[in-house]
Amino acid sequence: MEIGIVGLGLIGGSLGIDLRSLGHRVLGVSRRAETGDRAVERGAVDVASPDLALLRSVDVAFVCTPLGVMEATVRELVPHLPPDAALTDVGSVKGWVVEAIAPLWHNFVGGHPMAGTADSGIEAAQPNLFTGAAYVLTPTDTTPIEAVERVEAVVKPLQVRLYRCHPEAHDRAVSWISHLPVLVSASLIAACTTEVDPEVAILAKALASSGFRDTSRVGGGNPELGVMMARYNTPALRQSLLVYRDQINHLLNLLEQQDWQALQAMLEQTHRDRPPFLR
Ligand code: NAP
Repeated sequence: MEIGIVGLGLIGGSLGIDLRSLGHRVLGVSRRAETGDRAVERGAVDVASPDLALLRSVDVAFVCTPLGVMEATVRELVPHLPPDAALTDVGSVKGWVVEAIAPLWHNFVGGHPMAGTADSGIEAAQPNLFTGAAYVLTPTDTTPIEAVERVEAVVKPLQVRLYRCHPEAHDRAVSWISHLPVLVSASLIAACTTEVDPEVAILAKALASSGFRDTSRVGGGNPELGVMMARYNTPALRQSLLVYRDQINHLLNLLEQQDWQALQAMLEQTHRDRPPFLR
């Protein structure tokens, strides 16, 4: 098939590398011409241009720009697409994106590959980024089934675990397992930096080891991504934070009441509840 990718960064570039190796012809559009040139050099696209007219004959187009420019990008893109092209995106939030973009293109299917690294831009693109990862499509009642099936036919050979769900269900699910952890981890780091005794503050940094590395990793990542999650998934993230605050209050109560039995029971439950979230 002929595939178009708009936004040649970590996700767009990595998609291009794998889709080309699967035999597709990949056409890439990015804002800066240098990025397109690097994408060609890195084997992420066959041809690149800053001009969206390059995608005039694609079968499927992936929008891989930052969330903040996604709607504007699609508005500029749709006049160039052939009438039966399927359009999808890779944005980390789906409710808002689907609401904004579905009215702009009849064959639009929201999508989200659940894979990434801490790096960004075309230099961060890598082969097999999506292997074994979940890939969620979020069709609605009005999404044509042919468009869903065409996007699935392109992404399934990336050896992803395909899921279909409603955009709102996606946003609530990723709020629990991705967006809430970022804010929880960030608040952990912020709390640790409030230590007023300089000797203790220095000692804490010196003693920090794998536990702190694991629990602070996502909170110490790319600030722009965290703001995007909060900005575009506000209702679901607010609800998750409220529930999390209740959990913190519950823990404080157990501690103040020295209810070690209840704490033991809770930690035994969380010990049992964790494995199904991990593979
Ligand atoms: P990224 O590495 O920063 O790549 C985005 C690329 O889009 C940039 O390289 C930039 O290339 C291009 N771009 C920026 N503004 C543009 C515009 N107005 N028009 C055309 N191209 C533009 O970001 P990313 O991590 O790949 O994220 C892209 C999308 O994937 C986001 O919507 C994000 O929610 C989603 N996502 C990210 C991850 C993750 O872990 N990073 C995971 C899953 C999904 P130029 O050099 O040409 O400006």
